[in-house]
Amino acid sequence: MRARGQNSDGCCPSCGGRSARVHDRYRRQLQDVPLACRRVQIVLEVRRFVCANSECPQRTFTE
Ligand SMILES: [Zn+2]
Repeated sequence: MRARGQNSDGCCPSCGGRSARVHDRYRRQLQDVPLACRRVQIVLEVRRFVCANSECPQRTFTE
């Protein structure tokens, strides 16, 4: 099963600003979970955004 975030932007944890500028994407594989007696492997696509605030010390952040 593949999953990804629904929002078009993310919120910087340092300054609280929102950004839709995607820096890169990567995949994380979550631990196998049982679902209806089957083992399910979840692959989560995670985006890393560029903070739009030029004065923010955190240049990028993950969603
Ligand atoms: Zn920021």
